[in-house]
Amino acid sequence: MQQMTLGGSSIGSEWQSPSDLDWPLGSSREAARKRLDGFIANAGRAYQTHRNADRGEGRHVNVSVLSPYLRHRMIEETEVLEAVLAEHAESAAFKFVQEVFWRGYWKGWLEHRSLLWPEYQRQLPQCLSHTQQDKWAGDLYERAVSGATDIPLFNEWCLELKQTGYLHNHARMWFASIWIFTLRLPWQLGADFFVRHLLDGDPASNTLGWRWVAGLHTQGKTYLATAKNIRTCAEDRLIGRSDQELGLNRLVSKAHQVQEYLPAKALQKTEIQWPKPEQCEGDGYRCNRGKTALLVTEEDLTWYPDNVDVLSVAALSASPRSVLAPASDLVQGFVHGALVDALGRAGAHYGKTEEAAQTVAVAPKPLEETELVSFFVAQQIDQVVCAYAPIGPARLRLELLGEQLAAKGIELRFCMRDYDRMIWPHATKGFFQLGKRIPEFLRTMNFVQ
Ligand SMILES: Cc1cc2nc3c(=O)[nH]c(=O)nc-3n(C[C@H](O)[C@H](O)[C@H](O)COP(=O)(O)OP(=O)(O)OC[C@H]3O[C@@H](n4cnc5c(N)ncnc54)[C@H](O)[C@@H]3O)c2cc1C
Repeated sequence: MQQMTLGGSSIGSEWQSPSDLDWPLGSSREAARKRLDGFIANAGRAYQTHRNADRGEGRHVNVSVLSPYLRHRMIEETEVLEAVLAEHAESAAFKFVQEVFWRGYWKGWLEHRSLLWPEYQRQLPQCLSHTQQDKWAGDLYERAVSGATDIPLFNEWCLELKQTGYLHNHARMWFASIWIFTLRLPWQLGADFFVRHLLDGDPASNTLGWRWVAGLHTQGKTYLATAKNIRTCAEDRLIGRSDQELGLNRLVSKAHQVQEYLPAKALQKTEIQWPKPEQCEGDGYRCNRGKTALLVTEEDLTWYPDNVDVLSVAALSASPRSVLAPASDLVQGFVHGALVDALGRAGAHYGKTEEAAQTVAVAPKPLEETELVSFFVAQQIDQVVCAYAPIGPARLRLELLGEQLAAKGIELRFCMRDYDRMIWPHATKGFFQLGKRIPEFLRTMNFVQ
């Protein structure tokens, strides 16, 4: 294997070709598969050794950059895990596998606290106006989101985020830490800024990632960015620049205690209304109840049930990610493109035979709620099946859509992925509780012996 040299420094002889990173990221399943195929060889020990390095814009070859695809399930966690474990021993791929389970952990954890995210959203406008009322804080907020603070490295991350829709995990942690502890801005506004600009912007991973940095997830355990840990992990991109030039001399050396503004009720555990499994045969439940349509949402772009006769396919348009402002053009373009791609794939999946191609109706584009109701009514649909949407804006819209459809005599039914059903019950406490079961999960999925 060759020694790869990028930007003047080596990232180790165990690396396979890092040339598969295409920026901006393509928003199709084909692009997701290409990204996975290009990364698999590096998901073992090489990932374990080099994953912490933030190499800078467009050079994140040491991590998978699969998050935008996993976020919208343009590629499934199970698919990624299976591909990686087919190439690497469990022990060699352990770190990467664990990271993939972190996503499921945050999703499950938020699902067990269904009031947290809506309450955070409800408080956001007030949080913004409160910040803007204070001249100093309002000005600082504007400079922070424009990449114009007096911490040049923070500004670089801000611009990278806006330009590419991606930041390395450590850059996210440092950015959030500086935002909260050095700039003393509310974590709520930082999380909102992130979710509007990250291609992978996710109500669970993002909201809870920010709360984790702030010390609100694990009580009293804050994450403090220091010049030392930034230099250790971002060494490559910082070479030749002093702490003063980067603004690292301005970072605080102590984290203050962040106040919890969410009411106790929003933090309380709630029951998950477990819907039917993804393949619902065998439990006495009849899947075919008259004419069935599939509804695709941005929460799961690869769910095509084969135990129902799908006669129509439609997609719910992209949901607003924030109550404060629209997502960036980059994010909007990515999600819309992903929905269009999924609609096309679902149409092709159910219209495989010549006969089916004649009978399966596919909506021409992602639709708003009222358009969806009209579409399903026109198709004389009895039930609409949809992959379970976890906590977030799409879920809220689906709940209302369910009522609108019910008023027309159409049932909206959700089915849950086996993967979520398997791991979410273990996502109620810290990650450790879930993490220790990973070998068991992998055996259950038959990915290891
Ligand atoms: C403040 C903050 C905000 C974040 N916001 C998001 C977000 O909105 N959406 C999002 O997907 N991730 C978020 N993360 C988690 C993590 O930073 C990204 O998932 C990761 O950097 C994505 O890059 P990658 O695909 O190259 O990761 P890799 O290192 O290649 O990891 C593989 C996959 O594992 C999952 N993963 C890895 N680390 C984490 C993690 N800490 N938490 C959850 N899943 C993880 C992702 O799906 C990722 O694609 C956030 C982290 C922090 C600290």
